[in-house]
Amino acid sequence: MIARAFLRFTKRAPVIGTDTDLAAAGGLLTIDLDAVAANYDMLRAEAAGAEVSAVVKANAYGLGMGPVARRLAAEGCRSFFVAEANEGAALRALLPDAEIYVLNGLFPGTAGFYAAHGLVPCLASMAEVAEWREAAKGGSLKAALHFDTGMNRLGMSEADAAALAAEGALTAGIEVRLIMSHLACADDAASPMNARQLARFRGLRTILAGRFAGAKASLANSGGIYLGKDYHFDLVRPGVSLYGGSPFTGREHPFRPAVTVEARVLAVREMAAEETAGYGATWKARGTARMAVLAAGYADGYMRALSSPRPNGDGGDDYGGQVRIAGYTAPVAGRISMDMLIVDVSGLPEGAVKRGDMAELIGPHITVDDVGLKAGTLGYEILTSLGGRYMRIYVSGGKAMTEGGGRV
Ligand SMILES: *Cc1c(COP(=O)(O)O)cnc(C)c1O
Repeated sequence: MIARAFLRFTKRAPVIGTDTDLAAAGGLLTIDLDAVAANYDMLRAEAAGAEVSAVVKANAYGLGMGPVARRLAAEGCRSFFVAEANEGAALRALLPDAEIYVLNGLFPGTAGFYAAHGLVPCLASMAEVAEWREAAKGGSLKAALHFDTGMNRLGMSEADAAALAAEGALTAGIEVRLIMSHLACADDAASPMNARQLARFRGLRTILAGRFAGAKASLANSGGIYLGKDYHFDLVRPGVSLYGGSPFTGREHPFRPAVTVEARVLAVREMAAEETAGYGATWKARGTARMAVLAAGYADGYMRALSSPRPNGDGGDDYGGQVRIAGYTAPVAGRISMDMLIVDVSGLPEGAVKRGDMAELIGPHITVDDVGLKAGTLGYEILTSLGGRYMRIYVSGGKAMTEGGGRV
């Protein structure tokens, strides 16, 4: 849809301002906030009865924390999770009333900063609890208590839970809002880890119920929501599903894609048989070939692992990225450069691709999960790697706007 909006635009004469910027952009990153809102709705229906928060860490998985959080707040989202306090402070400036949880906990000596911005740390050790308690002296500070149930990343132990339950002085001045844990294998419904972690989390809740009766409980990320009602508790914490990425391995997902990446065709060129394309001369034309050179590369998050053949030599033509161009799917040829990539458009009708056209790298035809798979990683990493050089366009209420609020 945006590609069409863009083409419509390019047929007009550029005018000073936004339009000129668009015409001069090598790459376009279009973020569909309506899709994010639709995904949020879908999650609300799936987790009916639980509060649905939004995980907006890492710049909302690359989509832009500000526009995403503002839109989700307008959709009724009240609780947000970030990874770090600095992300939380930036979000606080946008959403004065939201509950903002910091997943990475409390860094030493920073309690004053958290308190000043009204951030709620997810306390993951007795040392963090002690520091927060110290900061709360004479007042009251909100916190989440984060427990480990088998992932062995962050979180307090069952013994810590028992100590906190037995001794109220340990959490004096701390208003415990949330008791949480995180699932290691929620992407795989068949994993026995899920039931094991659920049982441990229930055990922890039993230990803590008397002391922190007012606290909500939270276990599920996106994948966890689809493990069933038992996993929902009071609050769920979806991230990737909001952004249209798959929270599952090896099965379809219902979420609407929210990101389109398009790169401009810089040149269309003919190659003679036996000539090679790109760095390392790794791709060789079997016959005469036609190539399109696109304005995006690994500096834009289009990873070098999408080269064909792969940078380590294995694979061949079956590996590497694919792009959608002039209504066809075309394979990457040779190594991905920093700012450019080459695709083989020999299979397309002559004249179908022209200098100045836009090609879809990620979008309705090329899913972020497919790109992840071809790069040997996940949709999560493709999203969070989206480069800072793209011109960003946000679609909201069916209207496309630039980041600065200009109409497209
Ligand atoms: C990142 C994260 C989430 C969100 O996970 P998704 O798989 O993206 O839904 C939830 N909880 C914690 C603790 C996280 O670190």
